[in-house]
Amino acid sequence: MKVTESPLLYAYDQSLDDWVDWCGQRGFPKFMAKQLREWIFAKREKDPQLFTNISKVAREKLSEEFDWSLPSVDTILSSEDGSEKLLFRTRDGLFAECVVMPSEGRTTLCVSSQVGCRWACTFCQTGRMGLTRSLSSGEILSQVLLANEKMAESGQKLVSNVVFMGMGEPLDNLDGVIEVCRTLTDPKLFGLSKHRVTVSTVGLVPEIERLGQEVAVSLAISLHSADNAHRGSMMPVNRKYPLEVLKQTLLEYPIQTRHGITFEYVMIKGENDSIAHAKKLVKFLHGLKAKVNLIPMNAHPGNPMEASEAERLREFQKYLSDRSIPAPVRYSRGQDVSAACGQLATKRMEDLDLEPHKVARERKKEIREGN
Ligand code: SF4
Repeated sequence: MKVTESPLLYAYDQSLDDWVDWCGQRGFPKFMAKQLREWIFAKREKDPQLFTNISKVAREKLSEEFDWSLPSVDTILSSEDGSEKLLFRTRDGLFAECVVMPSEGRTTLCVSSQVGCRWACTFCQTGRMGLTRSLSSGEILSQVLLANEKMAESGQKLVSNVVFMGMGEPLDNLDGVIEVCRTLTDPKLFGLSKHRVTVSTVGLVPEIERLGQEVAVSLAISLHSADNAHRGSMMPVNRKYPLEVLKQTLLEYPIQTRHGITFEYVMIKGENDSIAHAKKLVKFLHGLKAKVNLIPMNAHPGNPMEASEAERLREFQKYLSDRSIPAPVRYSRGQDVSAACGQLATKRMEDLDLEPHKVARERKKEIREGN
């Protein structure tokens, strides 16, 4: 398959330091670096010729040397609940997804941080793909720009909340994710507060510590079981970082929201939804400021797991709330449009008879051969 990739540097990948270096090397004033970032992320302008406080010579160089295109959107699926899933293609021809979820007073964007994922959690569609590669910081930020462009066109509220709950394990892409979080929470750029940016992880302990030290945005943990052996059977990461190690790290994480840390708990029929499981969960959460999101399993083809029955879900929820643990039931938005992360990208790859590793390998070969 022929894929296209611009040989130019990607404008949205450039950090403040990168722009300072570039300005210095080209003989432009270094203060221009901040102006460029403001044009890109605060004013959302993607044509450098319209950067009116930048000299004409610099504008020409910016057009010549950088790729300013946002990812190309392959498919948009609109859900009855108002959310929209955007399947986009990266510059090297891979598919990834983001979901825009407008609701009263806010617009939440769920971004992908990787194409695929290496962790192979048994209930997850993205895990079936394996990891192809991490997305760059610019590829993540451009999902926010893409969503904002869409919201502005339809006169809706721009993205106010960002959650890293799309494809991939964000903390396996820590440098990129930290750069994105800094840009999102910079008051002169996107200006989102830290409690409106949530990084969701399966629990990579050293990376959680570094995230807390460097940017301390809100944290969500994909937990799904509070029993080591059981969690290890569903989530291989637990064999590396068992629950007691994870808990110690969470006790030290700088908390951003009034609910503390959010725990995601996918309710799977007959798997993790008994009162015995709820008891273990309460025990694990003791001492932590926590909220638990109970998410009925979003069934997908090729996986026999199903959502817990409504009665079981209610009993589980009541057990937690009777012990003062907030436990709202959260339905994955856009269920009618394959909103479970990775579902649409996997389907599209299959429709086009593409295999992500093969696409990446072919592209590397093309680059080596100078195409
Ligand atoms: S749940 Fe998250 S960490 Fe697990 S396979 Fe899916 S994307 Fe990866």
